[in-house]
Amino acid sequence: MKISFQKIPFDSVIKREIILENESDSLKTNFELSIKERNLAFCKINMNGKININCNTCGVDLKKNIDEEIEILIKNGIYDGFNEEFDVVEVPDGTIDLNEIINSELELLRDEIEHCEKCSKTEDNFIFEI
Ligand SMILES: [Zn+2]
Repeated sequence: MKISFQKIPFDSVIKREIILENESDSLKTNFELSIKERNLAFCKINMNGKININCNTCGVDLKKNIDEEIEILIKNGIYDGFNEEFDVVEVPDGTIDLNEIINSELELLRDEIEHCEKCSKTEDNFIFEI
């Protein structure tokens, strides 16, 4: 789903929902977009559901529960400032690709280290032995 930056009204919030449903993931994402200042939008993202990840040790499939609230800024064009509080996503062509935002957030979540029950037990024992 794509939204043109120009279509975000100055005085209200637009909401979009994307449901991702496939054999490995089941995820509902809600977006709230509003204009913060000229050419800069504030985007609140709520992600809820389950995604498929792999155990970091043995690689077995795991389901990870997702319940995330993420806040980012979206810049229409190139962002030459620096923001300590929020990540800034640049859209040089003026088009916000919501699916792309979901995918990059999911990539971050999949990169977190997780272990299956068996491996986390082994790790506990390992720590215990030290
Ligand atoms: Zn494992």
